[in-house]
Amino acid sequence: MEKSELNYIKSYEVDFNQTTPMMRQFLQVKKENSDVILLYRMGDFYETFFEDAITVSQAIEITLTSREGGSLGRIPMAGVPAKAVDSYVAKLLEKGYKISICEQLEDPKLAKGLVKRDVVKTLTAGTIIENTLLNSEKNNYLASIYQNPKEDNFGFAYCDISCGEFKAATLTYEQLKSELTRVKPVEILAAGVKQKILPFQIVPEEKICLPDELMNNYNFTKVDSRTFEKEGVERLIKEVFKIESLDVFGYKNNSHGILASGAIIEYLIKTQMGNLPDFEKIQSYDISNYVSIDANTRRNLELTETNRDKAKYGSLLWAIDKTKTNMGARLIKKWIQQPLKDIKEIEERQNCVESMLKNAKARMNLENILTKISDIERLSTKISNNSVNGRDFLSLRNGLVNLPALQNILSDFSYKNLIYDEKEIKKPVEFASIIDKTIDEDAPITIKEGNLIKSGVNSELDHYKDLLSGSEVWMKKFEEQEKKKTGIKFLKVGIARGFGFYIEISKSNAELAPDNYIRRQTLVNAERFVTEELKKHEQEVMSAQAKSADLEYKIFCDLRNYAQEFVEPIRKAAEFISRVDVLLSFANASSENNYVKPVVDSSNDLFIKNGRHAVVEKILPLGQYIANDLMLVSDTKNFEYTQFMILTGPNMAGKSTYMRQNALIVILAQIGCFVPADEAKIGIVDKIFTRVGAVDDLSLGQSTFMVEMNETANILNYATEKSLILLDEIGRGTSTYDGVAIAWSVAEYIATKIKARTIFATHYHELNVMANKIPQIKNYRITIEENNGEIKFLRKVIHGSASKSYGIQVAKMAGLPISVLQEAEKLMVKMQKDFSKDLSQNKRKQEIKVEVPQLNLFDKV
Ligand code: ATP
Repeated sequence: MEKSELNYIKSYEVDFNQTTPMMRQFLQVKKENSDVILLYRMGDFYETFFEDAITVSQAIEITLTSREGGSLGRIPMAGVPAKAVDSYVAKLLEKGYKISICEQLEDPKLAKGLVKRDVVKTLTAGTIIENTLLNSEKNNYLASIYQNPKEDNFGFAYCDISCGEFKAATLTYEQLKSELTRVKPVEILAAGVKQKILPFQIVPEEKICLPDELMNNYNFTKVDSRTFEKEGVERLIKEVFKIESLDVFGYKNNSHGILASGAIIEYLIKTQMGNLPDFEKIQSYDISNYVSIDANTRRNLELTETNRDKAKYGSLLWAIDKTKTNMGARLIKKWIQQPLKDIKEIEERQNCVESMLKNAKARMNLENILTKISDIERLSTKISNNSVNGRDFLSLRNGLVNLPALQNILSDFSYKNLIYDEKEIKKPVEFASIIDKTIDEDAPITIKEGNLIKSGVNSELDHYKDLLSGSEVWMKKFEEQEKKKTGIKFLKVGIARGFGFYIEISKSNAELAPDNYIRRQTLVNAERFVTEELKKHEQEVMSAQAKSADLEYKIFCDLRNYAQEFVEPIRKAAEFISRVDVLLSFANASSENNYVKPVVDSSNDLFIKNGRHAVVEKILPLGQYIANDLMLVSDTKNFEYTQFMILTGPNMAGKSTYMRQNALIVILAQIGCFVPADEAKIGIVDKIFTRVGAVDDLSLGQSTFMVEMNETANILNYATEKSLILLDEIGRGTSTYDGVAIAWSVAEYIATKIKARTIFATHYHELNVMANKIPQIKNYRITIEENNGEIKFLRKVIHGSASKSYGIQVAKMAGLPISVLQEAEKLMVKMQKDFSKDLSQNKRKQEIKVEVPQLNLFDKV
């Protein structure tokens, strides 16, 4: 339809009296659901009208049509076939739209007048539970941010309704940013946001708004600021969780986080139409129990996805994820993103991995069993919110029946913490056998149309089933009887959809039909009849069918209700299984990639012998990765005191790879996995900071240099003696003098004031003199071989400093024109002469000045 043909009237502008009854019904529903796209069921299609039609047709590229609207002109309309609605809904959710499904509540054929319709569910990115819309290997988090204008801290809560996980914390803004990159919520509720999704919606602006850098990167849903008010939240949480006081969820220390949770619950009640999934609790968490990794570092280290194309391939997750269950796949991501600081907890995981590594056969058996275990975590949630169907129950049973075998195999590892307690499996296994006895193996997806309960469960149902299955035999007998009675040889008894039972006689014999035969249907070559006897049987069968379907539905609902008491034990089993799955994944990855068990202690040492980059070594052809040591040690008895490493080396030599490799080894060690090295001793790291590469954030009005300085300031303000800092090319975004001065002063500040373990990669070879001045600073370089102006990368990190960067040689390898390279070579020689002259003249002045440059860099941000 041409745009010009359209009368772009909006639904909220229409005068109800001007429309047809059907449109009035639509407008009424739309009025109550003005903030979502309304998919309105009309026969085999879901239609959208007015502004929704325009939005939908543009968002998912479906045809925009229109229908006659009388005095309203033509009403925009766009529809999708009901059968394929899931794929359209998925696309709309991905784009951040919210959708309400308005169903026909009665059979249109039986309806008197207008078919009754109403909204049966509302779908938003963060509230879906449909298997077809969820990614089985990813959590689907709905989050909420509470912001109090009078305070700096934020309340943050997130939940995955498909698994029952619900967590909350009170955070600083930097921590909030970091948590958002870790949790990656698909939808965030907040009051201070500009609603952008529905262009036609008018929403009141809040006084305070969240910063643009959050708004631009996440899918926000605006909620009323009153949803965060203490009284309302308190009432709601007490009611939903049936508790006396919010303190059981840690309200005292996490009041903001709990207020953020309130908004989530209120939103879920609204969108789930009363079927609030069962959450055991809101878990207040303390971010300081985990290694702090800021948002930039998370991205730089490519923990669960690559920076460039957001793919798993090439990330740390890819290198070590050998999980066999969907639950394990989700948990390993969480573990990688939250390395531990507690030595005992880390050692506990390591010991499990070690005992698994000792028994390869049991490991293989365990792998086989895990492969058979379905996603019992998400299935238990489907029970808790009444969205389970017969097939879900069967899939749950298929998972649960493996628990005794799992228990057996785990005992082969003979390690106390891998023993699966007899008591824990009792209830889930009991429930598996109940499902087995009740649900038919060929149960359909529907729950109201029968064929989902087994014979032997209910005697009344068995009676109906006998009647229905006996119908075939009855028909055969009746056919024989009628053939005999009428003498018509080619008489057939059958049943037709929509017409019921019939006696079929060919046209040529039709006149032989006796008087008691009543004509029912005429076909091209035959006539169909019924008799009183056949009608009676038909009625019996029909009523048995309806009664049986009703009874099956009732039995199913009873089972579903009874199942509620198994939700918790099944969740516990799911938790245990996912943990075992991740530990097994660590063991398998460690065995496959030749990892070793690191020593983890409370020292400030980082000692890594022949360390490798967990990802790059897998991508390069076997044996091509060059291993390197790291010695950041304060143990002066056995080693030279080194706390700060200045790393020089030509472009492309492998400086960034080396720095990242060491950060990844620390992360692997602190999540309890073994590490790619010959030997490693990791003194617990509390925070990891990286400043690698430079990206400008023009959308926030920040230049490359400004971004670099912001990130550096953040590190200097928050790093501690226990932190690990990786700095790549600090000071590159400005002039050489400024750059060297900044790099020098930053290095000195970290080495002498913060005392964090640091690798500082730089092309400023001038910084190497710092090692003479500050004993804990040591110079290292990455080796190359130079032959007639050609360079070969040896990638070995050794003591000492590099004298050249070989930038021009690398530029030559990249294919810059010869004339440009020759000119660059000439200029470089000249500049090097001038610079050394300058530097020696300035040396005396520098001794005094270098202590205080760029003081504003250390100001709190
Ligand atoms: P620049 O200074 O130009 O940023 P760089 O010194 O940081 O370069 P990297 O980006 O770390 O260099 O490494 C360049 C390439 O060298 C990597 O993509 C990797 O393929 C390879 N490489 C790095 N380290 C090793 C190693 N230890 N063994 C084998 N190959 C390596």
